[in-house]
Amino acid sequence: KRKLNENDVPEAVGDKGVKGASGKATFTSLDLDSRLLQAITGEKFAAPTPVQAKGIPLALSGKDVLARAKTGSGKTLAYILPILDAILKRNASANKQAKQTTALILVPTKELAAQVTATLQTFTAFSAQDVRFENISRKEDAAVTRSRLAESPDVVVATPGRATQWLNQDVLQLGELKHLVIDEADLVLNYGYEEDLQGIAAALPSGVQKIMMSATLRTEVDTLTALFFSDGAKPTILDLS
Ligand code: ADP
Ligand code: MG
Repeated sequence: KRKLNENDVPEAVGDKGVKGASGKATFTSLDLDSRLLQAITGEKFAAPTPVQAKGIPLALSGKDVLARAKTGSGKTLAYILPILDAILKRNASANKQAKQTTALILVPTKELAAQVTATLQTFTAFSAQDVRFENISRKEDAAVTRSRLAESPDVVVATPGRATQWLNQDVLQLGELKHLVIDEADLVLNYGYEEDLQGIAAALPSGVQKIMMSATLRTEVDTLTALFFSDGAKPTILDLS
């Protein structure tokens, strides 16, 4: 496949991939790294979904986001694309720090961890040299997990239980974290991970961007706010349900 350069625009899929007279959002208008756009083109997605069109610019600007949108509305890419974009930008800069975990994606189950990891794989198809990710939610020998985390992958995908286990053993390093995602945040709380989240929140350095995604958010909003926004910072709430 041909490599895109700065001025290139991936070929539109049908006529929905370009900004039409309706002014509908397009992926190319989202100002993402060209290698990410190239991967998106490969998926033949016509246009960003509403949670992507609204959430990606917010996340790219560094805002904390708490989004509610129904199942199947494309929430995974709404956080994966801006995080990968930020990582690719930092990793390309001359003063890039040696191997650091800068993004932690927390999910309620190991099945979802596998799905999110597969999505990371797909969308880093053209930037695989420049971003490393590991899923530590699988049932596997502890030595294997240790080796996955030994060189601080850019992105770690985990259930809060696994993240806590390895954090407590000082194997998962969060000292340089820049982005924390909680996907299916309602389930994460309903599965009883609140105490783990408390420990993770306490281990975060200051200034970590928080992105939380959920299909439903009711009383959970208060719990999440108390856990992660106790300093008074308020997340932008994106309600697309
Ligand atoms: P959610 O997390 O909101 O339930 P997912 O992120 O799992 O939704 O996405 C649901 C499906 O939609 C996936 O198969 C994904 O590949 C697809 N998808 C995501 N974004 C788009 C898009 N912009 N256009 C078409 N399909 C998309
Ligand atoms: Mg999802």
